[in-house]
Amino acid sequence: MNAVSTKIQDVFNEPGCDKNQTKSDKDRKKGCTKQLQPGAAAGGCAFDGAKIALQPITDVAHLVHGPIACEGNSWDNRGSKTSGSSLYRTGFTTDMNEMDVIYGGEKRLYKSIKEIIEKYDPPAVFVYQTCIPAMTGDDIDAVCKAAAAKFGKPVIPVNSPGFVGPKNLGNKLAGEALLDHVIGTMEPDYTTPYDINIIGEYNLAGELWQVKPLLDELGIRILSCISGDAKYKEVAYSHRAKAAMMVCSKAMINVARKMEERYNIPFFEGSFYGIGDTSDSLREIARLLIETGAPAELMDRTEAVIAREEAKAWAGIAPYRERLEGKRVLLITGGVKSWSVVAALQEAGLEIAGTSVKKSTKEDKERIKEIMGEDAHMIDDMTPREMYKMLKEARADIMLSGGRSQFVALKATMPWMDINQERHQAYAGYAGMVTMVHEIDKTLSNPVWEQVRRPAPWDLSDAAQ
Ligand code: SF4
Repeated sequence: MNAVSTKIQDVFNEPGCDKNQTKSDKDRKKGCTKQLQPGAAAGGCAFDGAKIALQPITDVAHLVHGPIACEGNSWDNRGSKTSGSSLYRTGFTTDMNEMDVIYGGEKRLYKSIKEIIEKYDPPAVFVYQTCIPAMTGDDIDAVCKAAAAKFGKPVIPVNSPGFVGPKNLGNKLAGEALLDHVIGTMEPDYTTPYDINIIGEYNLAGELWQVKPLLDELGIRILSCISGDAKYKEVAYSHRAKAAMMVCSKAMINVARKMEERYNIPFFEGSFYGIGDTSDSLREIARLLIETGAPAELMDRTEAVIAREEAKAWAGIAPYRERLEGKRVLLITGGVKSWSVVAALQEAGLEIAGTSVKKSTKEDKERIKEIMGEDAHMIDDMTPREMYKMLKEARADIMLSGGRSQFVALKATMPWMDINQERHQAYAGYAGMVTMVHEIDKTLSNPVWEQVRRPAPWDLSDAAQ
């Protein structure tokens, strides 16, 4: 069994993943990977998942070893923001060609690493394996090791070629690369009893910055965010945190659990979407820090901040509640957002016409039931035709989804709002909730919907004749 297969089996054996634990040994070996249909990789391959999870580390060079289309597919497709270096947004690829397929691409990879280090001098280079070199047998581990020894810099192999499975598996393999080669390799200048890690938060549209001021006010330090707005050294010394919050459902459960096992860092799963969930997460962070040695008065200060911020957020939402009350939302998203956004929308008085659970875990579905009741309208796999029908028949007033389904809503001449990774608005924390409600109101009341539903002038003149 080669190194990638061993790693994948290790990920599939993840004790923190309840789904895998309920399977038989035989089923577990197969993992959760479904054979992709041609063209169906549009949902993201494992390489894409690994890149999404690590690209937010801002000061390193992310080098994709493969044909140029792999990097073209994944380059800068998330709005992950930085407060420092923007090297992470530069696309680096070995741009393999036919000769590299025949003779092997290892030399080309080595030269590319050399060129990047000479030109950009980043603190580390991350090298991503893709399908073609994985099939022709390029040993990126060996090349990375040789380059690291020669240039005196960490060169991190990320062994997650697209064909091994879907995006979610890629997230986990990226986590494994961090656990194997990065975490625990440096030490922070100092530590405090208030140091936390946030795992699975990618700072999309700057969402981390909507929560960080609250933590700053409480004196809680984000020692490392894995990986939103992170610097290489922060991830390298993240093993010194006192507690951790796992944000994005199960995407990086292996990182959180193994860090607990190896470095004794307790973690919890939380969300910064919605007023109630943000408050719960702040409370849980304070509780874990107190358990690991922070003074108990931290909880009183946390409650004071929560009370103040909740009041502010409710006041911000109040003007919209009347306008949005009873409006029905069709929510096509996945994972943690399938329940955390539901709670947030209900807080604004909106009704949920349906929420997709295709990418949600068993726990996510349980949370939806808790929030929406037993008759929650969970949709396993809705086809574009069904989405269109639902909107056209006005069983929903607005659709919140990712960019790929937007054209279904537009065809049905119904309002649509981007809720997924490519969005440009930040919806996290208390301020984010107010922004989300404001954006939904703006989308629903946009006069363009009236206009596009009117018959075209030429149709009217035809009818008059
Ligand atoms: S890694 Fe494989 S599946 Fe992913 S984009 Fe490249 S060729 Fe396609």
